[in-house]
Amino acid sequence: MKRRSRRIDTDLAVIGTGIAGFAASLFACRRGLEVAQFGHSGAMAYTTGYLDLLGVQDGRVLDDPWDGLGALRRETPEHPLARLPDETIRTAFGLFTEALTEMGLGYTAPGERNLRALLPNGLVKSTLSVPQTMLPGCEALAQRARTLVLDFDGLQGFSARAFEANLAERWPGLSSARLTFPGMEDRQVFPEVMARALETRQTREALVDLIRPQLDGAEYVGLPAILGMQAPDRIRTEMEAALGATLFEIPTIPPAVPGIRLREGFERTMPERGVTLDPVLKVSRVRFGAAGATLTLHGAMEDIEVEARAVLLATGRFLSGGLRADRTQVSETLLGLPIRQTESRNDWYRKDYFDPAGHPVNRLGIEVDASFRPVDAAGDPVQDTLFSAGAILAHQDWVRQRCGAGLAIASAYAAVDSAAAHLTPEGQPPDRSVRSDR
Ligand SMILES: Cc1cc2nc3c(=O)[nH]c(=O)nc-3n(C[C@H](O)[C@H](O)[C@H](O)COP(=O)(O)OP(=O)(O)OC[C@H]3O[C@@H](n4cnc5c(N)ncnc54)[C@H](O)[C@@H]3O)c2cc1C
Repeated sequence: MKRRSRRIDTDLAVIGTGIAGFAASLFACRRGLEVAQFGHSGAMAYTTGYLDLLGVQDGRVLDDPWDGLGALRRETPEHPLARLPDETIRTAFGLFTEALTEMGLGYTAPGERNLRALLPNGLVKSTLSVPQTMLPGCEALAQRARTLVLDFDGLQGFSARAFEANLAERWPGLSSARLTFPGMEDRQVFPEVMARALETRQTREALVDLIRPQLDGAEYVGLPAILGMQAPDRIRTEMEAALGATLFEIPTIPPAVPGIRLREGFERTMPERGVTLDPVLKVSRVRFGAAGATLTLHGAMEDIEVEARAVLLATGRFLSGGLRADRTQVSETLLGLPIRQTESRNDWYRKDYFDPAGHPVNRLGIEVDASFRPVDAAGDPVQDTLFSAGAILAHQDWVRQRCGAGLAIASAYAAVDSAAAHLTPEGQPPDRSVRSDR
């Protein structure tokens, strides 16, 4: 069969469909830019659903992330978050969580302090914003309230007993029980399948009937994150009313329902906002010209050429394919952007795996200027029309610093700000008559 070819003209091409890419598209739409976005959004299912801003600084768990940012600015001024004023970060985070709530996934508004949020194994992490379905878990922990945590026969990677055992000393009111998920007897069960089953009223009622006899005075009931896909807040409210206790979700190991909800939510709503989105197609090549760039993509049945007046690269790190490591160096995979290397591969890791300073390889990435444009060794922008955001950026260690989503959202906001300033100087609408040289 003959392959089709298609051409898309756009103001901003966003490469990447992780949190940074979707945040960038969202912010660009708000600014009236035409956006085309490509990537493979599968990686989003790995997140717990918590949106961290800065949970750890210098090995210290932070209650006040804004205070931590102050220290970060003094100690690591080149960190992407340290380059941004609090006001920008607050605005970006606020707009992002509002958009999630609009898409049916209620999130807490970012506050002054980190929340202490629960993890599947009974550990606790500091994070800035959590899904509304998980907030009562933070409250129950803070109050040491009488709480029942449940798991299910056949569910792997989530044990209510282990959860209870790990928290028992600091949370005496905690108890655990195991149920058989309605309609899924004698088999392995998966959070995503249970979540989709709970979209039906009969399954919700059957589950409530199973939980009720276990309550024994518990005010709160914690479940693995399975309360539906598209409207978890409504499902939680409805089940709570039937149960007479406050329900909350606890993230499971990846791939986890909160991440799948985010992915499906963005894939559903970004086209409604006007974004041309292909969430299962990677960009093969980018050529820059005088007035922007031409992106080449090869789909199963068609070849696509995108003429973009600016490009925002948010392709993530090693897991998502934005960076690659070979025997000698770390490289950026799509554009061959310069990366300042360590002297040798031996310097990628410190001797002690748990060294509080972290491993240098985790801080390698793309260097950007104040406008979030990738720069060369001399510090000059590689292209005036190229911007970058998210985990691909250098000088951050998001896993260790617990700043994954915050870094993605805030840097996307700043990069879009700069792209918009480039495309719409003095607030003029973009000049769409000029496209890149073909
Ligand atoms: C296991 C796990 C748990 C996490 N938990 C949390 C948490 O609790 N809190 C938190 O704040 N953050 C968490 N994160 C981090 C968060 O999910 C993001 O990884 C992080 O915010 C970085 O986002 P990103 O968009 O920069 O990169 P990524 O999420 O890695 O996305 C990069 C995107 O680029 C795409 N891409 C790559 N190459 C191309 C190409 N050539 N063309 C087009 N697209 C391309 C990929 O397909 C992918 O869609 C977690 C991550 C993982 C892996």
